Amino acid sequence: MTHQLPFIDLQAQRQRLGDDLDTAIARVLEHGQFIMGPEVRALEAALAEFADVAEVVTCSSGTDALVMPLMARGVGPGDAVFVPAFTFVASAEAVALLGATPVFVDVAEASFNMDPQSLDDAIGSAREAGLRPACIMPVDLFGQPADYPSLSAIAAREGCWLLGDAAQSFGGSAGKARVGSLAQVTATSFFPAKPLGCYGDGGAILTDDADLAEVLRSIRVHGQGSHKYDTIRLGLNGRLDTMQAAILLEKLKLLDEEIEARERIAARYSHALADRVTVPSTPAQVQSAWAQYTIRHPARDRIAAELRGQGIPTALYYPAPLNRQLPYRDFPTAPGGLPVSEALAQSVLSLPLHPYLGAADQDRIIDGVRRAAAGHGRGEAANG
Ligand SMILES: *Cc1c(COP(=O)(O)O)cnc(C)c1O
Repeated sequence: MTHQLPFIDLQAQRQRLGDDLDTAIARVLEHGQFIMGPEVRALEAALAEFADVAEVVTCSSGTDALVMPLMARGVGPGDAVFVPAFTFVASAEAVALLGATPVFVDVAEASFNMDPQSLDDAIGSAREAGLRPACIMPVDLFGQPADYPSLSAIAAREGCWLLGDAAQSFGGSAGKARVGSLAQVTATSFFPAKPLGCYGDGGAILTDDADLAEVLRSIRVHGQGSHKYDTIRLGLNGRLDTMQAAILLEKLKLLDEEIEARERIAARYSHALADRVTVPSTPAQVQSAWAQYTIRHPARDRIAAELRGQGIPTALYYPAPLNRQLPYRDFPTAPGGLPVSEALAQSVLSLPLHPYLGAADQDRIIDGVRRAAAGHGRGEAANG
């Protein structure tokens, strides 16, 4: 009788959006401005208001949202950009594509996010190696904003700027400040599975820096100057499709409510699972966007296999730190190494969590995890 649960359920959200979504798409088909149509500007204004920032430049993906600010600030050969080792590959890829050096920093075990002490050490050793510390790229892993106050203090002291990789955290916040306003420049992604996702690829850059935004708007269209055939810098085709902007305008209306639903489910999971596995911990003032709900357990592979047998999918983000991936093996790492990233890669497991996950399915997931983990000891679980 066990049916297969989906890991995320985009159809439930689509039903919730109903006719509004179809109407928004039909409107774009009608006006026909598929590139940089009115919905793109409307979305940028809506995102700026939502995140309380002055400037939003939408773009073609979360990856381009990382590449474009690095291009705009002239990051290149000889520059060090500090990236956590435990993240999706796009964070480091953006840096390496521009000929700069990604320097891998370890993460803190409790938050999965960049460890300020490891960052401090990595900056010192990068300098000794003759690199110029240019940019710090914290990643808000699984939706939880990084420790921006500590990281910003280090950035200010070292003359670096902060580019937040908020691909997983849009909709989250720290205190009263929304993700998007926590770093000088923030990149986010609208990949379908992200907390605010479209029906294709998309991304955005958020900043209060109007000069930077102007350069980003030029980079977005091949380095365009005062008119279409005036080219003043290297650029990309980095635009967000009008159709995706129209879809995102509808989905943005639900985002706060969806984050609340994710929070309720996460709290329920944590309450029910904390004595069996290590559950995520979020500081009091921090609101995660809960892109993923990620537990830790030394027998995670066996737990995943047992859950699979019960029709409960899990996901493994990430099976290896980036310094173990082929194109990134020769880049520098923090002098203390990356012990936490290495350990997390062996013990993390993400459970299904989306805003439309019903109580019965939540119970089934909770029961499944409790039973699977019971067979394998409490292990490192240490929730205090
Ligand atoms: C998804 C993701 C990206 C890239 O976003 P795309 O829109 O897929 O290009 C970058 N960084 C992190 C941490 C991500 O999770």
